[in-house]
Amino acid sequence: MQYSSKDKIEKKYEVIVIGSGLAGMTLANKMAKDGRSVLLLESHNKLGGFATWFKRQDGSHIFDVSLHGFPVGMIKTCRKYWSREIADRIHQLKSVRYINPQFEVDTDFTKEDFIKVLIHKFNVTEETVQAFFLELAHMNFYDNSQMTNGELFNKYFPGRSDITRFLLEPIVYANGSNLEDPAISYGIVFSNFMSKGVYIFQGGTDVMIGLMKEELLKNGVDIQLQARVEKIIVDNKRVCGVEVKGHKIYSKAVVSNSNLRTTIEKLVGENHFSDEYVKLAKAVRLNTSSCQVYMGIKKGESIPFIGDLIFTSEDNDFSTDLILSPKVGSQTFSLYYPEMRPHLENRFAIVSSSNARYEDWKNLSTDQYEAQKKVLIERALQGLEKILPGVRAKIDFVDAATPLTVERYTLHERGASFGTKFEGLHVSMNMHKELPGLFHAGSVGIIMSGWLGAANYGVIQAHEVDNYLTRLEKEDQRP
Ligand SMILES: Cc1cc2nc3c(=O)[nH]c(=O)nc-3n(C[C@H](O)[C@H](O)[C@H](O)COP(=O)(O)OP(=O)(O)OC[C@H]3O[C@@H](n4cnc5c(N)ncnc54)[C@H](O)[C@@H]3O)c2cc1C
Repeated sequence: MQYSSKDKIEKKYEVIVIGSGLAGMTLANKMAKDGRSVLLLESHNKLGGFATWFKRQDGSHIFDVSLHGFPVGMIKTCRKYWSREIADRIHQLKSVRYINPQFEVDTDFTKEDFIKVLIHKFNVTEETVQAFFLELAHMNFYDNSQMTNGELFNKYFPGRSDITRFLLEPIVYANGSNLEDPAISYGIVFSNFMSKGVYIFQGGTDVMIGLMKEELLKNGVDIQLQARVEKIIVDNKRVCGVEVKGHKIYSKAVVSNSNLRTTIEKLVGENHFSDEYVKLAKAVRLNTSSCQVYMGIKKGESIPFIGDLIFTSEDNDFSTDLILSPKVGSQTFSLYYPEMRPHLENRFAIVSSSNARYEDWKNLSTDQYEAQKKVLIERALQGLEKILPGVRAKIDFVDAATPLTVERYTLHERGASFGTKFEGLHVSMNMHKELPGLFHAGSVGIIMSGWLGAANYGVIQAHEVDNYLTRLEKEDQRP
């Protein structure tokens, strides 16, 4: 059932899930399907977290916030943990393009095509390319290798910033990775993406979340929207519920899909954890944030097909630090053609994304902020005009989102788009060992973030919560 936002929930649950991002929702759905009683509390007025959309001009324009592309694995995850109807709507993008002063490439983003491009366009020997892919394929998440991305590229393609750009730029956009991050995280993400290309949900995020909500309700998950959890209740060194608007709701286990550090520092309080764990948690770096410019094409107008995802840059050289800076000349354009939402009238939309730093936005006055947003919008329009001449005259809606927008709508500290860096995973996975009954599921590290990573992490944590509940049941049965 869906509670109204005013309802004071008195029922006790086995599991309360705080937040309806893809990790929280997938966990809730799996646990309800497995017969557990689940309450899903979401602070926003719709489900989805970052997997979201918004409408403008009375619904005439609709924009997806984080539907730029995900790996093929999402089909299996959706089929197994959601429904065939959801899985069947996942389609491959046809064309991923790079346009920058070093090279231009059009690829379907499969491993086979990358091998061809590396050999024929970048003139690398087949032997080196095969050795590089072999090393990626043999990377194991549990290996304790200290190698960084920079070292990995230097090993196979020394002095080739063009190849580093070709290989790393999409990943920098996808999750803010840099050359200093562990090569293992890059290797796994890259191998995931590279197996069979980049995929998208046909119908749009609104349709997907609508189908997921139906599925959650069908499987017995109780949902309350506009229910911001202020506190996780700890009694006798165990978690036993949450507080929403001063009202206590009780459960045997609580799963937080909120930001990792927010969960520890604000929702629970550091005093409930060991000093060592708090130290580790404090050392977890939040991931970077991003800016988007949303551009809607006038009703009745159209644009030709120029690619689905276009990585553009005006910077002569590639640097991951530069790519995060506000002065950067790089942006990625996601183009949405009518096939994206076949159920709507012939509509086109374009979203420009660029990585960003929270600190570059947070101290601006209102006037400075508005002025900076205008600069961002103008940069997007100018960049788009270069690859699609005449497009400016066809656009009748444009607006920008910044790290502050992300922070406001998703409660992610510093507007982090991809949760935390790699080290967050260890802290997240060990939360229940520190405080029985408390679990975390959400974007941590590069592997457990993005649509697929978050959904899969929800499944992993669902197993952990289920094991915990089973242990409690056994304890209760003891004479
Ligand atoms: C601009 C942008 C573009 C992206 N593009 C892509 C892409 O193309 N492909 C891809 O795979 N990934 C992309 N991502 C990343 C991907 O969207 C996220 O990694 C994933 O959706 C995060 O899921 P999550 O489960 O961690 O939770 P989140 O989406 O972070 O959701 C957490 C939820 O918890 C709720 N919440 C938090 N605190 C509380 C509280 N106290 N009480 C109640 N509710 C609370 C929030 O309101 C939110 O709904 C993008 C992200 C951004 C920001």
